[in-house]
Amino acid sequence: MSGAPILSHPHERHDPHRIGDKVPMTHELIRLRGARQNNLKHLDVELPLGALTVITGPSGSGKSSLAFDTIYAEGQRRYVETFSPYARQFLDRMDKPAVDTIEGIPPAIAIDQTNPVKSSRSTVGTMTELNDHLKLLFARAARLFCQGCGREVRRDSADAIVADILARGDGARALIAFDVALTGEVDADKVRAELDRQGYTRVEQVDPSTLRVTRDRVRLTEANRERISEAVEAALRAGQGHVSVLPLDANREPADHWRFSEHLHCPDCDREYSDPIPNAFSFNSPMGACDACRGFGRVMGIDYRLVIPDENKSLAAGAIKPWQTESYEECQRDLMRHARRAGVATDIPWKDLPEADRRWVIAGDADWSWSSNRGGWYGVQRFFDWLESRSYKMHIRVLLSRYRSYDECPSCRGARLKPEALLWRVGSKEDADAVLDPSQRFQPPGAQFSEEVLQSLPGLNIADIVGLALARTRGLFQRLHLPAPMDAASDLLLDAIRARTAYLVDVGLDYLTLDRQSRTLSGGEVQRINLTTALGTSLVNTLFVLDEPSIGLHPRDMDRIIGVMHRLRDAGNSLLVVEHDPKVIRAADHVIDMGPGPGERGGEIVFQGTPGALVHSDHSLTAAYLNGRRRVVAERRQHAGAQQQSADRQPRKSDCQGRRSACFDWHTPTSLRIVFTSLSDTRLRVEMKCAADCGPASVSSGRTNRAVDRTDE
Ligand SMILES: [Zn+2]
Ligand SMILES: [Zn+2]
Repeated sequence: MSGAPILSHPHERHDPHRIGDKVPMTHELIRLRGARQNNLKHLDVELPLGALTVITGPSGSGKSSLAFDTIYAEGQRRYVETFSPYARQFLDRMDKPAVDTIEGIPPAIAIDQTNPVKSSRSTVGTMTELNDHLKLLFARAARLFCQGCGREVRRDSADAIVADILARGDGARALIAFDVALTGEVDADKVRAELDRQGYTRVEQVDPSTLRVTRDRVRLTEANRERISEAVEAALRAGQGHVSVLPLDANREPADHWRFSEHLHCPDCDREYSDPIPNAFSFNSPMGACDACRGFGRVMGIDYRLVIPDENKSLAAGAIKPWQTESYEECQRDLMRHARRAGVATDIPWKDLPEADRRWVIAGDADWSWSSNRGGWYGVQRFFDWLESRSYKMHIRVLLSRYRSYDECPSCRGARLKPEALLWRVGSKEDADAVLDPSQRFQPPGAQFSEEVLQSLPGLNIADIVGLALARTRGLFQRLHLPAPMDAASDLLLDAIRARTAYLVDVGLDYLTLDRQSRTLSGGEVQRINLTTALGTSLVNTLFVLDEPSIGLHPRDMDRIIGVMHRLRDAGNSLLVVEHDPKVIRAADHVIDMGPGPGERGGEIVFQGTPGALVHSDHSLTAAYLNGRRRVVAERRQHAGAQQQSADRQPRKSDCQGRRSACFDWHTPTSLRIVFTSLSDTRLRVEMKCAADCGPASVSSGRTNRAVDRTDE
């Protein structure tokens, strides 16, 4: 025997991924000697482990050089060293920071404000891992509602079937039967002969491909329960999970037809559904992704508002923008020639052309085909089809990109999933109504039931849930009770979802939706999401390095983000936060004030100790601000200005257009900076009517993809 048992391996204590109970604050320290990265002046620093340490000071004084370029860089470097040489080759390796020695440093994770996400497959739901939890929850605990009739689709056990037919049968005589499918080469006579050999004498051909075989003919009474049960079980076996019960009328003719199935099968519509698996609820899995858009939720098309940007231009004056270049002037000539032939005016503004003529210009002659040589007008649309077929060429792709539109995928209606996944729902009718108005329910694509039926269905489907603002998502899961019997795993899942949605609301992200694309988030939003994800994964003995978490945060949410940082600390982690906000400084266990000036005049530690001691420090500029000896002048001016103008600010929501967009009238002087933010969708169309300065007739409209932090300005 050689080596120690794995469980007592000494390195286990340092495993950053271990889930543990609350760890008391330690008295260990991170010790730096001779730190001289960037402008740092040979610093010797000691940071308490298991504490919240804030590094503050004027900008350029060396805060980031100490926090990120030295401490985080070394923590990350050592963490990478713990991987095998094979794994290491795939990881970014950091240069050793300029420092003599660092001792006691735990594995470090930076939660900064860079948003590295470029893929549209990343959403708030995938970033927070909530989508992973949701797909497991749906596979375990959702109920299926039939695409045809909207009734709940259940799996029937033999016992449940017997109980149901006894209750419904009311003593009537009935046939208990199963169907045999006649597929392909199977000869009906041979099947009949085989059934006859097995003792089935009542066999009826109900349609060309189906034989109905009667297993038993019995009166549906309690006294016959055992016989009925035996017949149902045998019919289920022979009928591959399906059984038919046909109650007979006074003439011994079938009066009704009750279908039951051990599978997920709607007896009324005779539709069968597959068992739910987690990946069916994930657009990042081929099992779940919509076939038409491959899980993107949008399909590419051509935006004709960009093709014809100026409707005041006539065809002759160049209304069709892409044809006004040398490369495509031939198309413009074709258009003019065919327009004259078809009697379409070329000298009046596009907007004054009859609707039919405009449609003809875009769609071309109906009988035009790629192969015919009869000439005729191909139309703008086929021009773009032709370009698409050549989009392997870079310059064609560039041209197409100027006229691209990204439209909601018609197959999944933007939900990114295959239609069947959207038929599954969790929660009761009351749960659903509490968070989403019945008129706003997502209609599953291909569903044949009415809007009225949709509104009466219990619970929400996954598209409804990811479209909810997080405050509502949290509300839903707080009140949600899954139907008994609940297993321990579903219980844990529900707890994890509740905790994570609560953290996100805690850090002021209550307005985000899970389907919001990550790449449209601001740096501050990304940082706060990563902070809550760190909380949710129960990391311990880890050093979190944060860059100004107060940025973009409303002051009223500051206490809550401090609460989150304290929770991370109390779970046994260390936090190192670069921050100016006085509230955060006061909430720290330990403060390092850098200075005294920026650049070469900085790089020194002006003060180090508790926030209480900092206030009384004579040398610290930060202390002067904290205890009110100095004020931030610019900030006061801004507040005074805002007050003056507040009388002119009359934002009012004038019209709400549908589920995910709203239209605002906003009367305001142009001197005030206006930030429009889209809370649920980033494709924000803004129409500004600037009444005060330009007169009510002046309308400017724009489209923005810029993500900005929420603000009350
Ligand atoms: Zn149905
Ligand atoms: Zn789709």
